[in-house]
Amino acid sequence: MASKNVISMQRWIAIIAFLAYDFIQIYIVGHLIVEPNANYIIRYQVRWSPEFQLDTLTLLGLLLIPFVISYIMALNSVGGDMVQIIGPDSLMKRMQMEFHRGNPEARDFTEDEVDHFLLELSTGEPQGTFENLKMLFHLGIITQTLINQTGIKSIKRVFVSDDLTPNAFTLRVLPIPFLGQDWIIINRNVVDILDDQEIKSVIAHEIGHAARRDSWLNAMLYSPRLVIIFGWSIILAAMANVILNEPFTLDSMLRFATLLGFIGVIRYLMNAGQGVINYAYRRTELLADYYAAKIIGLEDLINALIKIGSRGEVINSISRELKRLEKMSGEVPIEQMAVQIMNYLDPSETDAAVAKEYAVEFYVRSKLNQIFRGFQISISDSEFNNYVQQAKANMLKSQVSATPLISESEEQVKDWKSVDIDQNKKLDIEEIKDLVLQLRKNDSSIFQSELLERTGQLPQVKTHPQVSQRIFFLHDNLMD
Ligand SMILES: [Zn+2]
Repeated sequence: MASKNVISMQRWIAIIAFLAYDFIQIYIVGHLIVEPNANYIIRYQVRWSPEFQLDTLTLLGLLLIPFVISYIMALNSVGGDMVQIIGPDSLMKRMQMEFHRGNPEARDFTEDEVDHFLLELSTGEPQGTFENLKMLFHLGIITQTLINQTGIKSIKRVFVSDDLTPNAFTLRVLPIPFLGQDWIIINRNVVDILDDQEIKSVIAHEIGHAARRDSWLNAMLYSPRLVIIFGWSIILAAMANVILNEPFTLDSMLRFATLLGFIGVIRYLMNAGQGVINYAYRRTELLADYYAAKIIGLEDLINALIKIGSRGEVINSISRELKRLEKMSGEVPIEQMAVQIMNYLDPSETDAAVAKEYAVEFYVRSKLNQIFRGFQISISDSEFNNYVQQAKANMLKSQVSATPLISESEEQVKDWKSVDIDQNKKLDIEEIKDLVLQLRKNDSSIFQSELLERTGQLPQVKTHPQVSQRIFFLHDNLMD
């Protein structure tokens, strides 16, 4: 795998190419004007004007709008079920106010003080239990320590969201130098499945995005897009205007069809650069990984990536399984059921095989329940469970014949647990080396969905590299 410097260079080349492509589009769209021409069947002509049509003020305004939008979006995307662990409304801040002892920045509280304070606050509801508050407080301390250690002062707020997918991301609020802030959101499930060191590596990855100003760059990349959209809108509106000023005839249909075709072409031209930017995004992720591995160590980061990936497998496996079952018996709202299953399943479950079995049982149970209740058939609990077990066994058996694709691919998927020699559910350096060797030797994937993506059976996630690629990059750059 390419070195860090090569990855960084590739990323810059992609970004510059993308920006150049956008500015060429702005140049072109800015020089086009639409004029009525009765000689043409479409009734207008597009002409190249020597003067640039968009005035400077409009351009500046349009370039600034994404920054404002990103601010509003950031404000909107926090709140709701989120708990602030760093920032003005955090538990930490409240503790500081309670026990500042004359020093408002003091952060050394005794264990007893913390426990007492959190006990007073706890409500007993699912969110507000003492254990939960203690976990959130602990997470706040870990995060604050990392922020202090890295010295990235722009991170002003950190939130924990109740999301059941393992993920974390950074928002740049007002991407302007000096005024801007970075807010990090950590999904609760990250805490459910990772140990402290692994959580640190995830937070360090996000700090890496803030330190590298990655989200700042995002806003800059979106600015030119808005100018292009605006430019094309003016041209399309002028074309529509010419057509609408004519009496409506059969030819008008043809003219509108041409206009729609034109919109299709514009869309295609605008999206053509997206592949280049996704190429840059994937490299951005590798560089944030590099930053995190430098601070926390690559062992914990790689274990975090594997566990998060396994959890992703659980989620994929549930929806894949439900889709298959739905095909077999019809009409079940899959998304709704997948969410229900995620809610019932242990949030720290990272085994896709267990999840699959769980999905089948849940499906069978709700389906049978529907039938017995719907037809008002009285049945005892044990009888009902009997039916569930029978049906479940049959459904699980049926998948072997129904989806040869999955069993065939089994050997092309290298389960990380098979290299976990001491079976402590965590890979040490030697085990990681072994995993990399095994993955490379057979050109295999680390997860089922990774393989399905590679073979085109699942749509690819374009903005993030695959977990095996991330492991290769860390292995090749930071290990020998
Ligand atoms: Zn990232």
